[in-house]
Amino acid sequence: MFLDGKKALITGSTSGIGLAVARSLRAEGAEVVLNGFGDAGEIAKLCAELGASYSGADLTDVAQVEEMMAEAGGVDILVNNAGTQHVSPVEDFPIDKWNLIIALNLTAAFHTTRLAVPAMKEKGWGRIINTASAHSLTASPFKSAYNASKHGIAGFTKTIALELAQTGVTANCISPGYVWTPLIEGQIPDTMKARGLSREEVINDVLLAKQPTKKFVQPEEVGALAVFLCREEAGNVTGANWSIDGGWTAE
Ligand code: NAD
Repeated sequence: MFLDGKKALITGSTSGIGLAVARSLRAEGAEVVLNGFGDAGEIAKLCAELGASYSGADLTDVAQVEEMMAEAGGVDILVNNAGTQHVSPVEDFPIDKWNLIIALNLTAAFHTTRLAVPAMKEKGWGRIINTASAHSLTASPFKSAYNASKHGIAGFTKTIALELAQTGVTANCISPGYVWTPLIEGQIPDTMKARGLSREEVINDVLLAKQPTKKFVQPEEVGALAVFLCREEAGNVTGANWSIDGGWTAE
């Protein structure tokens, strides 16, 4: 398998997109390091399924990120995927939610990247894949912190792609539209409140209204794109922001 001998650390991989990416990379032979929160028994099952190791680091705490990266050793593939969301008008946006979203969705990727790059450069090979979002390219109301964090990660990714351009290390964003995961389910009640809509109206008139295909993106489809970016044939794909959004950002 083409990722035999490569080690992949995927942040926020106990759930949703990160878990699907971990499964896809594992299926191509990568050794996987999982990270994220969740039920200890469920996480142990995932580790057994994937032959993976696990770090429970809270990525909003720099010391815990440093410990996770030191324990993982030199990783060949770094997937910065952990993220969170909060939906609120800007004038009511809770300050702690703003700080959490910027810390997790943006600053954590800076820390993991700065710690992963030296070993990648030494090996002359590496893949940095950042889960951004359609909201790295466009905006929706009531998601000020999220949109700022995702536009930020897109700019960060371009910058490191340029810095690493001659090292064999690529850096790219994957930008999904709406993928049915706990993160999306969790924002439905707040969106109902912010917009005065029913659950069905939020799903059909807010979420799927954005996607011309009228379908949620599947986590496995994001996993397949991550696998492609790890291929040798993708060695010249760097600094890109890959949309997988059912046509959302084409409009
Ligand atoms: P999810 O809620 O299913 O998964 C989030 C993961 O992050 C979980 O493993 C969780 O335990 C972990 N996590 C949360 N806080 C953490 C912390 N402080 N430290 C470490 N790990 C933490 O969400 P998802 O939908 O799979 O989202 C994954 C990524 O994809 C996020 O960056 C999100 O913004 C992005 N994204 C999601 C969608 C979507 O429609 N679901 C669309 C575009 C982008």
